[in-house]
Amino acid sequence: NAKYGFTSCLDIHTGAAMTPITAQPAGHTPRVLIADDSEVETIYLQALLAKEFNVVAADNLIEFWAQMAEEAPDLILMDVMLREISGFELAKQVKRNSEYSPIPIIFVTSLDSAQDIETGFEVGGHDYVTKPVMQRELKARMRAALRLKNLEHELRLRSVTDYLTGAYNRRYFYEAVESNLSYAQRMRRNLCIAMLDIDFFKKVNDLHGHEAGDTVLQHFTQTIRGQIRKYDILARFGGEEFVIQFFDCTIAKSLELLNRIHNALEKTPCLTSAARISYTFSAGLASLDEVAEGATVEKLVELADKRLYAAKNAGRNRIVSSDG
Ligand code: GH3
Ligand code: MG
Ligand code: MG
Repeated sequence: NAKYGFTSCLDIHTGAAMTPITAQPAGHTPRVLIADDSEVETIYLQALLAKEFNVVAADNLIEFWAQMAEEAPDLILMDVMLREISGFELAKQVKRNSEYSPIPIIFVTSLDSAQDIETGFEVGGHDYVTKPVMQRELKARMRAALRLKNLEHELRLRSVTDYLTGAYNRRYFYEAVESNLSYAQRMRRNLCIAMLDIDFFKKVNDLHGHEAGDTVLQHFTQTIRGQIRKYDILARFGGEEFVIQFFDCTIAKSLELLNRIHNALEKTPCLTSAARISYTFSAGLASLDEVAEGATVEKLVELADKRLYAAKNAGRNRIVSSDG
């Protein structure tokens, strides 16, 4: 994960399932978390920032981690001299957490020695502002930090998704499923992989043109998205072939989800300006709990692919979830 700098589907520190990286909602008011145990300081900052930011505050550690989890802040303003812990140490803990590490931290402190400032950056701080703060300067630095964070997020998102459909790409799929797989094995949870391939897609291109083919690929992605759950991962494997990881899911439940995709396609075919394009898909499904010790993502994908091939051979428009 660290290699590409994006968070995987699981947080290694809490061991809990985590939402994969997604686009940010447009035009949302940035959320700022103030970590300061002085009530006077907090009230001052809140008043200063309330107009432009969505401000929450924490004056102790329990509250801090609760706000981190619940409020998903875009930016943290951190005091250095906190009662329970040094702000530098707290920043280190934030940066060690894969989910929280992209959140910029601005130290706001009366410590103004060169050594302290240097430490602030060394522990992963984005910026360092000394008290008394100059109001306009602080806000300008906050905006700059947010601008950079949004750019980084956009870049990360682009590096893990497919341009045409917005589905994850193959690289992200392997990275994410690999970490989910080891988590699932450790926690004795199940995980399923489905390989989906649009039937006779070449005909769509031949009949309606390549652009209509592209629209069908987007339609297929949207339809699948409408049926799967938050923790499932949809990726474009290549061409008109897609792969889904169903996390913490039985093969029966995965089958049900695939059938729902099938029904949704039947009910709502792809409409382009020129045509109404009905299409179907074939799928192969494989489950972690049917593979012996030493299961790898490659093995699961291979098994799903073998069953997809069987579905095609059996006449297409069907799902194969076991051998024979
Ligand atoms: P089958 O039922 O056996 O899967 O037949 P098929 O026609 O779907 O499969 P085949 O592999 O023969 O053809 C896949 C086609 O998908 C060929 C290729 O031109 C087309 N294709 C791949 N990527 C894209 C794309 O990004 N856009 C469009 N429009 N077509 C694509
Ligand atoms: Mg096909
Ligand atoms: Mg194909």
